[in-house]
Amino acid sequence: MAGKTSLGEDIVSRINQLAAISETPDNITRIFLTPEHRAAAELILSWMREAGMSAHLDAIGNVCGRYEGERASLPCLMLGSHYDTVRDAGRWDGPLGVITAISCVADLNKRGRRLPFAIEVTGFADEEGVRFASTLLGSRAVAGTFNERVLTSKDEAGVSMREAMVQFGLDPDHIGAAARVRGELLAYIELHIEQGPVLEAEGLPVGVVTAIAGATRLAARVTGMAGHAGTVPMALRRDALTGAAEIISKIEELCLSDGRGLVGTVGYIHASPGATNVIPGQVHFTIDLRAPTDVHRNRALADISRQIDAIAKRRNLELRLDVTHENRTVPCAPWLKAQVAEAVSAEGYPIFELPSGAGHDGMAMVDIADVAMIFVRCRGGVSHHPDEHVEVADADAGARVLLRLIENFRPHVAGE
Ligand SMILES: [Zn+2]
Repeated sequence: MAGKTSLGEDIVSRINQLAAISETPDNITRIFLTPEHRAAAELILSWMREAGMSAHLDAIGNVCGRYEGERASLPCLMLGSHYDTVRDAGRWDGPLGVITAISCVADLNKRGRRLPFAIEVTGFADEEGVRFASTLLGSRAVAGTFNERVLTSKDEAGVSMREAMVQFGLDPDHIGAAARVRGELLAYIELHIEQGPVLEAEGLPVGVVTAIAGATRLAARVTGMAGHAGTVPMALRRDALTGAAEIISKIEELCLSDGRGLVGTVGYIHASPGATNVIPGQVHFTIDLRAPTDVHRNRALADISRQIDAIAKRRNLELRLDVTHENRTVPCAPWLKAQVAEAVSAEGYPIFELPSGAGHDGMAMVDIADVAMIFVRCRGGVSHHPDEHVEVADADAGARVLLRLIENFRPHVAGE
């Protein structure tokens, strides 16, 4: 290997090698418990061993590497991210965190540097939840919160997770063996692309994550009265779609005026009966609401519900809202976030804090460790798309921040 390459160049070269492992040759699709999962795991395990780590595949298919500290069996600082992808994915979402962590350990190993704690790197096998419609399977197994019911869920081909595990060579009755306990981990730190445009707009390569935003998803149903498009006068109509349009605009208006990180999205809408010459009698749509804290999100939800209910009443429509999904907000631990900020600053960058609007493995890991995240700028904020891109210099900046963070890491002292 060339001696003079930067951490960033090494990382990009490995990102490209991993991206070549895909279900289809022309894009990147790497799904849980498939031959591509296997091939990617073997490649990552080989990098871990090259970097001086002992490495193995755990009971759910995560790749786990361990670099011992000054003596054996010390508790670890765990670094990680995921190596599965969505369909037709980019190459950075997930792998950047795994590969950067391995590069940092390789650098320590090259210098013979041992720390007063062990370092573990975990590549989670399933974060995106593409195959079995349940996310964070890898990190939930490590956190000991894997829900056994997922084993019976089936993929599109009718294969259950239990069957897929057996075919892969894993024992579905021993997922518990992947679980770690709180005392073994000093902290969990994840480096990830931002998947949004904020760092780019700020002109910064890296950011300090404050929290992984919780989310509430709702199914909304607006009911009016269907009727003839030619015979019912405007004033007598109970048009569910124009009502929904006003409601959706109100949701946007309320989120826009919040100014403190509230985001709301209506991503799906369906009108019935759905004909050119019929007044829509019923409309279904979804609402996805996220904010940096649970209190903030819940207050916003109460406010939005009240105001859109008033719109429905004024229009003589019936509005029904059902919560379909709810995720709590996971704050990054202040003591750990402070060390991330210190490392960012020591590398010569301004400290810029931002919440994560997307979900990450830290949401599961927080059950056994304090978590923190470093965000790396990605071009145009584009993610879950083949155009996802990170500059070499930014990959390098992220790696230097993570390396400094590792070398200066101080475990939490109770009461601090
Ligand atoms: Zn990700």
